[in-house]
Amino acid sequence: MHDVIVVGARCAGAATALLLARQGHKVLIIDQDRFPSDMRLSTHLVWHAGADLLQKWGLLDAVRASLCPTLTEFSLDLGELVLKGTPPNAQVGAAFAPKRIVLDQILLDAAVAAGAELREGVLFDDVLRDGERVVGITAKNSDGSVMTEQARWVVGADGRHSRVARSVGSTAYHEFPKEAGSLNTFAYFSGVPLKGVEFISRPQRMAYAWGTNDDQVLSGIILPGTSPRVARQDTEAHFFAAMEAMSPDLAARLRAGKREEDWISTGVSTFCRHPVGPGWSLVGDAGLTVDPITAAGITNALRDADLLAELLHQGLSGQGDLEETVAAYAPRRDAVSVPLHLFSQDMARLAPPTDEVIQLFTSLAHNQAQADRYFGVFGQTVSPTDFFSPENLQKIANSEQSAAVSA
Ligand SMILES: Cc1cc2nc3c(=O)[nH]c(=O)nc-3n(C[C@H](O)[C@H](O)[C@H](O)COP(=O)(O)OP(=O)(O)OC[C@H]3O[C@@H](n4cnc5c(N)ncnc54)[C@H](O)[C@@H]3O)c2cc1C
Repeated sequence: MHDVIVVGARCAGAATALLLARQGHKVLIIDQDRFPSDMRLSTHLVWHAGADLLQKWGLLDAVRASLCPTLTEFSLDLGELVLKGTPPNAQVGAAFAPKRIVLDQILLDAAVAAGAELREGVLFDDVLRDGERVVGITAKNSDGSVMTEQARWVVGADGRHSRVARSVGSTAYHEFPKEAGSLNTFAYFSGVPLKGVEFISRPQRMAYAWGTNDDQVLSGIILPGTSPRVARQDTEAHFFAAMEAMSPDLAARLRAGKREEDWISTGVSTFCRHPVGPGWSLVGDAGLTVDPITAAGITNALRDADLLAELLHQGLSGQGDLEETVAAYAPRRDAVSVPLHLFSQDMARLAPPTDEVIQLFTSLAHNQAQADRYFGVFGQTVSPTDFFSPENLQKIANSEQSAAVSA
């Protein structure tokens, strides 16, 4: 009998297992993969709020030791102007983009070191129930034998196609099809000098570049999800034509470098899933998949893990009724994550800027504190609800007017 079974051993699952095991709970973590295992379907950016959590858990030094660059400069090239800023309210004051074979392994090693039991090559099949309550799982070992394990709680950290979510019948809300989101085409490059984290935004398209492990750079273009798909052999020409049109400078630096891996081109459907029920909960993409345009998923996953582990610890250690205590996970997760999900979805439309948006960015160019707060929305240290509140937008407009008067 385990206290908790966690299905999925990447950033959401390994972090949840780590935090619970450190509190002395008996944790089993399973994954169909074997580790170390890479995961290329991600551009790896862990924003400021995520870096602060890694620091709090004592794992940021291991990320740094992997020679993953410390990302402290952020720019957004809007054509007419370039905004620069640093998210406020951050302790570490930096973002990182470790390859997943690095980050997931650091979290998993720490979970195992804390006492979690890891079983690899194990495919979750279904939950076990006692009446309405989930009390364990069945899974298939790699030799085809069936594994049955019981637990006081089951956590689904098995990604956006979560079979745990399906087994427990979690309902989805704030759902968007992939055509309503962004289409991201990216690759790793070497030999490319960067000016920090570079974002380039133009109507109906974006581009980006930042550093990752192995002295490599991740760079991509983002188009609306309705854009026609490009044949594999044409991807390189398509990428450079779009990049050239947005930033001849970044295009030239990328051309002078070397592409190190195949192109990845993908869009995802997004959603929130109800993340908790009797004996179960969902963390990371299993419970909330956000459009990749804001590179928010890993930071979300780490924050979910932190919150869920705290509530599970309280419930498991008898500080309150287990189910009632963990039920608080849903509203607390949504208070932070839903505004970011909806902001990401809106941004993924890549709509041409309205006059108000142009005015906002013009004002931000003269207001560094608020430009920093805008970058904080991405760094997840400032809520989009606060930044885009009528009061804050009015404050930004007023500061622009008083600057114009004094000039
Ligand atoms: C194009 C793209 C770019 C992105 N870029 C970024 C970015 O720059 N920054 C960022 O923060 N996020 C980014 N994301 C999102 C990020 O990749 C996800 O949010 C993150 O991987 C979620 O982590 P997770 O641990 O919840 O799930 P996953 O990383 O999906 O891991 C789930 C694990 O569960 C295991 N599993 C699944 N089913 C089973 C089963 N039945 N039995 C056993 N094991 C199972 C899998 O093997 C896997 O190891 C991007 C996503 C995409 C698509």
